Amino acid sequence: MPSARFFTVIALTALLIIAASMACTDREDAVRARIRQGVDKIMIVDTHEHLGPENLRNEWVMSLFTHLHYALSDMWADGLNRRMADSIFNASGASLADKWNTIAPYWSNTRNTTYNKVLTEAFADLYGIDDVTEDTYEELSRRIQQANKPGWYHTVLREEAGIELAITDTGFEGVKMDRDQFRAVLRLDPFMLMWPGEEGFEWVERQWGVEINTLADWEYALEVAMDSMVAMGFVGVKSGMAYARTLTIKEYPREQAEEVFDRLRAAPGLSDRLSWREKRPLQDWMFDKIAKGCAKRDMAFQIHTGFFYDTGRDVTQANPTNLTPFIIRNPDTRFVLMHSGYPYGRDLLAMAKNLPNVVTDMCWIYIISPSFAAEFLDEAIETLPADKLLGFGGDYAIPEGSYGHAKLCRRIVSKVLADKVLDGYWSEAEALAYARKILRENPIKVFRLELE
Ligand SMILES: [Zn+2]
Repeated sequence: MPSARFFTVIALTALLIIAASMACTDREDAVRARIRQGVDKIMIVDTHEHLGPENLRNEWVMSLFTHLHYALSDMWADGLNRRMADSIFNASGASLADKWNTIAPYWSNTRNTTYNKVLTEAFADLYGIDDVTEDTYEELSRRIQQANKPGWYHTVLREEAGIELAITDTGFEGVKMDRDQFRAVLRLDPFMLMWPGEEGFEWVERQWGVEINTLADWEYALEVAMDSMVAMGFVGVKSGMAYARTLTIKEYPREQAEEVFDRLRAAPGLSDRLSWREKRPLQDWMFDKIAKGCAKRDMAFQIHTGFFYDTGRDVTQANPTNLTPFIIRNPDTRFVLMHSGYPYGRDLLAMAKNLPNVVTDMCWIYIISPSFAAEFLDEAIETLPADKLLGFGGDYAIPEGSYGHAKLCRRIVSKVLADKVLDGYWSEAEALAYARKILRENPIKVFRLELE
């Protein structure tokens, strides 16, 4: 039979373990709190949004149904007919109830996704409506419209989200927006005649004032466009090519690009009927010209890689590693590869660890998957030099979404950084210096912004 002494020893040991673990939890909590406070104080420079001019937004009537954005993407993926839903959202005679009934079953199926949760949380914080349900969509819609006044961008982005400046991708309007809050990038995808129905030749002639007859005119127009972009204040070129075709860029002789160009120029509308494969020599030729034009003007080249916002696409074509040979052929271009290449994050990290002219961008990624974002960041800390990662881009067309995304980003970044302090990987000071780099200093450097 065990002695009384034995029981005393057991009891004392248990007490010691409890005391030690309490001290440990106290220390852990204190580290987490300090890191969180430090991260919360950083005024973010946001690398990617689709926010348009606030005065245009003020002219529209806003509601929950103008504010679904990515939550709607998940509902399309769940089977909601996009065209049908859009026609109801845009019909002047449709009531809020008609719109709610259109999404209700899909809303309920997507309650678990981060797209949905981030939006719901943003509405709770900004509009005081705790949940989006059959009982609240009308009042929420009323409050969204009530706030739709000049100054809402400033309130939500600067004051609530702590975003000092955001780079927006919203066409030519971007450079006319309030420079206190925004910079802009422009897409030059029309030079690749990528999209059906796109007025490529007409757009270029009208926009840049160059008459287009030959490939030489086309190349010259690109130079004019890029010089004008610099003069207009754009801070980079954005490419959405991965939505339309593979990111693999082949090397074709100029004659082959010219052959395609001449064929397309001679037959109006032909571009719409040809596949990207048939247009590829010209497309690959012009993509290379755009990359070289960025290098010449010291502009960043932002390229969409990985996942899509809409449905029915093949994500393998957007694998960032498809770009590797092209990036190696263009060592002077500063490539910003977006969205952590989801789901090819580890491939992207390996690329960026190897290629000096690749910067990775975590725009959009926290709301696609916070767990993936945390893992990506964790591995990026271990693999990449600190100036090769851009830590936040909201990627929303509504400021409420950018707010919710920034809040989630700060939570994930704080957690990953604190975990690494507690693991003994680095000090709190190192962790916070890193946070400042990825959320602020790196975007300033990569996009050559004139901020402190
Ligand atoms: Zn985007």
